[in-house]
Amino acid sequence: MLIKPKKSLGQNFLIDKNIIKKIVSISKILNKDVLEIGPGTGNLTEYILKEKPNKIILIEKDKLLCDQLRLKFQDKVVIKNEDILKINENHISENKLIVFGNLPYNISTKIVCNWILKLERDFWFSELILMFQKEVADRIISKINSSNYGRLSIFLNWKMNIKKVFDVSPNCFYPKPKIQSTLVHFTPKNNYFVLNESKNLEKITRVFFNQKRKKIKNPLKQLFSNYHEVSKKLKLDLDLRPQNLSLKTYCNIVKEYEKLIN
Ligand code: SAH
Repeated sequence: MLIKPKKSLGQNFLIDKNIIKKIVSISKILNKDVLEIGPGTGNLTEYILKEKPNKIILIEKDKLLCDQLRLKFQDKVVIKNEDILKINENHISENKLIVFGNLPYNISTKIVCNWILKLERDFWFSELILMFQKEVADRIISKINSSNYGRLSIFLNWKMNIKKVFDVSPNCFYPKPKIQSTLVHFTPKNNYFVLNESKNLEKITRVFFNQKRKKIKNPLKQLFSNYHEVSKKLKLDLDLRPQNLSLKTYCNIVKEYEKLIN
């Protein structure tokens, strides 16, 4: 390998061909538009191209890697030397995109939350196939009443169907990361609970999960002066804890909160 991996950009390249093939086979790529974020040396890109997409857009922050990718793939790909955190993803393409990303782990979480927060009108993607640190993936896919259940799973489940695909061992990467990874598959929900503003769901869950072990009476009191009324209306059992409330209940609480602030 000619490239010296940059730690600062979280460069851990996928080198296990079997895993790469398995990742690519998750989605039906033929004639679709694909976006790959952080393509690195193009290991995944190469296999995506074999499936004959209509178009593939690569967004890579590292200029040196972009130059290499241009040499390697020439006009088979569209390369943008940009930071995924700084672009407006709603305007990348006219067609819905299948998104692949084996990115630095902290970035995966940030972008997927941002994408939901900043969604304009319709979904701009048809599928997201993203790699996460295993512990973070466990939180994303967790269910109500479990210890991992929290803001991340509530917020992402609000607008997306989420499925764990498989765990990926450190041996599949170069250099080897110290952590286990998990691939997660997201698709947009056709029907989701409509709220005035996405950030209100973030806010409400933050207030609840800041006091994760306390009974929900505390955060309710903090948010609503008429918390008795609100809890009666929503049939909330005040002895429950934040982990015992469903996504729907959180959305209902947000609705009440939105009435209050508007
Ligand atoms: N997907 C490739 C590379 C993984 S390493 C593979 O699986 O082999 C992560 C890649 O994300 C690196 O190429 C790194 O330069 C790139 N990257 C890191 N931060 C980024 C950002 N903010 N925007 C776009 N690309 C980024």
